[in-house]
Amino acid sequence: MISIQRMMLVENEHLYGPGKRLLIYLKGCSIHCEGCINPHLWSFEGGTPLSSEEIMKIIADNDLDGITLHGGEPLDQADDLLQIVKDIKSNNKTVILFTGYIKKEISGNRLKVWNLADIVVAGRFKLKKRNVYLQFRGSTNQKVYMHKGKYKDYKLKDGYTAAMFTIGENGEMDVNGFLTEDIAELMKIK
Ligand code: SF4
Repeated sequence: MISIQRMMLVENEHLYGPGKRLLIYLKGCSIHCEGCINPHLWSFEGGTPLSSEEIMKIIADNDLDGITLHGGEPLDQADDLLQIVKDIKSNNKTVILFTGYIKKEISGNRLKVWNLADIVVAGRFKLKKRNVYLQFRGSTNQKVYMHKGKYKDYKLKDGYTAAMFTIGENGEMDVNGFLTEDIAELMKIK
């Protein structure tokens, strides 16, 4: 079981990877980058448990390409995440991992999850290197690794930006993606 903040079905290649995917925000991050847009996900308290079986059912019911693991920091739950990633890969589905760690910092189950993922987007968010016109990354120091498998020849498409708006049942608006000044302005509209 992993502990998550929330999950949603997405189809936005620029932000979350190819195809139709289950985007999972894991609960808790021990890294605490300056300028992180998800500080509400730093606490490890109060998450919702999610099992491999539940994830596999959502993937099958919605004919998804795979999952995208977002933070919080997914590798802070690597011990529980590893079996889920193994199950997904053994069903020929894909895993995209967003992590604040770089490879030389990790070992053990963290490294196993990293190595099993099809695409890894890695590194701290650095406010001074912020760039909203990159695919997957929020700052220029972050690196993307394509591993062997379905996305081994995947080419990044930098040079434009994307954001995704969600309207909740009670009319509340949420935005995911890169907050340009235009989008930030739009968010102020009531
Ligand atoms: S690793 Fe991600 S979630 Fe954690 S502080 Fe950095 S940007 Fe925020």
